[in-house]
Amino acid sequence: MSKKPLNDGSSYPDLKVGHNKHEAVGLPGIFHSMEPALTKLGPARTAKLLTSINQKDGFDCMSCAWPDPDHRKALEFCENGAKAVTWEATPVTVPTSFWAENSLTSLLDKSEYWLGMQGRLTQPVYKPAGSDFYEPVSWERAFELIAEELNGLDSPDRASFYTSGRTANETAFSYQLFVRAFGTNNLPDCSNMCHESTGTALGETIGIGKSTIAYDDFEHTDLIIIMGQNPGTNHPRMLTALEDAKKSGATIVAVNPLPEAGLFRYKNPQTVRGLIGHGTALADQFLQIRSGGDMALLQALAKRVLDAETAAPGTVLDHAFLADYTLGLEELKAHLASLDEADVLTATGLSSDEIDELAARYIAADRTIITWAMGLTQQKKAVETLRDLINLLLLRGNIGRPGAGASPIRGHSNVQGDRTMGVWEQMSDTFLDALGREFDFEPPRKHGTDALQTIEAMQRGDISVFFAMGGNFVGAISDTAAAEAAMRGTSLSVQVSTKLNRSHVVTGAAALILPTLGRTEIDIQESGAQFVSVEDSVCAVHGSHGRIPPVAPGILSEIAIVSRLARATLGEGSGIDWAGFEADYDVIRDHISRVVPGFESFNADVRRKGGFILPNGPRDSRTFNTATGKAMITVNHLEPIVRPPGRLILQTLRSHDQFNTTIYSLNDRYRGIKNGRDVIFVNPDDITELGLTDGQRVDIYSEWPGEPDRVLPNYRVVSYPTAKGCAAAYYPEANVLIPLASAADRSNTPVSKAILVRLEPVGALVR
Ligand code: SF4
Repeated sequence: MSKKPLNDGSSYPDLKVGHNKHEAVGLPGIFHSMEPALTKLGPARTAKLLTSINQKDGFDCMSCAWPDPDHRKALEFCENGAKAVTWEATPVTVPTSFWAENSLTSLLDKSEYWLGMQGRLTQPVYKPAGSDFYEPVSWERAFELIAEELNGLDSPDRASFYTSGRTANETAFSYQLFVRAFGTNNLPDCSNMCHESTGTALGETIGIGKSTIAYDDFEHTDLIIIMGQNPGTNHPRMLTALEDAKKSGATIVAVNPLPEAGLFRYKNPQTVRGLIGHGTALADQFLQIRSGGDMALLQALAKRVLDAETAAPGTVLDHAFLADYTLGLEELKAHLASLDEADVLTATGLSSDEIDELAARYIAADRTIITWAMGLTQQKKAVETLRDLINLLLLRGNIGRPGAGASPIRGHSNVQGDRTMGVWEQMSDTFLDALGREFDFEPPRKHGTDALQTIEAMQRGDISVFFAMGGNFVGAISDTAAAEAAMRGTSLSVQVSTKLNRSHVVTGAAALILPTLGRTEIDIQESGAQFVSVEDSVCAVHGSHGRIPPVAPGILSEIAIVSRLARATLGEGSGIDWAGFEADYDVIRDHISRVVPGFESFNADVRRKGGFILPNGPRDSRTFNTATGKAMITVNHLEPIVRPPGRLILQTLRSHDQFNTTIYSLNDRYRGIKNGRDVIFVNPDDITELGLTDGQRVDIYSEWPGEPDRVLPNYRVVSYPTAKGCAAAYYPEANVLIPLASAADRSNTPVSKAILVRLEPVGALVR
């Protein structure tokens, strides 16, 4: 077991625990946006950046993928967007002396928070095999080292190329092209760990793994059901869209094991009522569901809809839509006829009255939108749950008309765009054919490894070179101990990054760090200032233009890194104009326009103010690009989570001062936590039943058949209004508890929202 970061309990001596909040943002939101920015960036830089973020001629927020309204406000950002900008645009840089002063062994004890606070990376560094220190290296030598390692492999499939959702479209396209020209489809990405289940389920049922709504649909809907999502922290500007929907008369229902502040009340700091008034009440109904109970809830709702139709034929189902656009209704009816209400209530932890109320709201609403995030996608039955979500929407024709639809909300600014650009280990032959035609080569066809399969391949010794375009792979993935051991087994790991994280400390035998420009920084190439583009959660593509000079000279853009790596590895004779890519990103966009559907006039469209919206069959014309050409109503078999006595269902989550594995501070004010992260949120009745007390220190053990228990030691029990039987703790720390094998069926997404755990008083003899 490797030395763990110093978050073993007592390392947060100033930890304070208070009460959770039932309202989000307000004046504190302004303070927590502006204080770090003004303190760390100063007034001028703060003003420059926060008046540019998410503006039509500005840069795109590097944090979540919430869409921008067509009518931008002068200040178009949320508190967490401001934190992300402050984090990236810090003038603090990692000094050259840092590398000689800090061995990797010493850095193992440092938390993600400490690592990120060291500042921006400004020079390439190399850790030779056998050494415990990074040392500065030239860019040329860095690319030589990587090329030598890659070209020394006996198969391109012995290398893996990871992508973080921060990677812009032009980079993602160039990167996947390089990887495929090198000869492999080993393109795991962060989507494998988050919305992969969405892609699998929606691809099968409606023919596209993306949202079927536009931003404006929030103002034209009657009902919004928010499932397994915490918008107040992970997509904060969504609260404005919810407030606007309320103003337009919509009803909101939230379904979540935790009473997250942003689900109940929004104090919009850009309104008087938000600043000095009571703000806007959001959820009209809150269903505190047990983690993993969403599938049972969706089936119970669909059954109630069918029963209502039987009671009043022709008044509930959208028969015309069902007849013209779908298949599978009768099979669903037969399946739900035997749905056992008692099983539903056990799986959901809800009452029949609560479910009746939501069903009545759904039937009364002419137009319904359902949004979701990790609470649904990181479950064992995630794919089936999302297929049931689509079933419910199809029954009343809630796809492909204004104010209605299915909307996965993405957690990273361009995670959807990366997929669209070909960053996936199993791209279609249609895409690979187009890519091969465009660049006159035969792309590899054998599917590559996704995120979990990459770790397993490393464990087997099948993958020996790991290259990451951004991100924090070993920090983000499940089963930390196994992932770290696997990464250490590789011969070379390379990280393209702006700041330090765990993946720079847990490396292959040899390691390289390649510093890159941030989204806020001006990117000058041979043909002048460049811009990149991103695709948000509702399929809108827009440009992002850096606004401040790079923090230091000599830092390369992501595209320059891909271009030079490709030339070093593939040679100058690859027939692909890598130098042209670097000199002028329009060249890349021209290629994209001939390979990726919807981008046919990319360079022109992306220069339009606000960019353009990609075509979307279900949204635009109720066209379903499925195997049958119809939207598929599917039959899914419930498999409720069995919680043995004395066990809890733990979910991992972000604090409010965190974005993915990036920790902005040790506070989580909506949940009442200050100066610490070693807490587990437990329902007060569970605390009593388990014979524990609020504030007690416990070791958290996770159990998996045939494997030794995993432990997260010395955590403070926090009495918290979670759903009965459910608990929560922060990731990435709690990722150590999730077995590699605990993955969603079919999508292979780590099951981070339903980990079976037991709590043992610290120091208790482990049975
Ligand atoms: S809602 Fe998301 S994209 Fe928008 S400013 Fe906040 S973090 Fe950034």
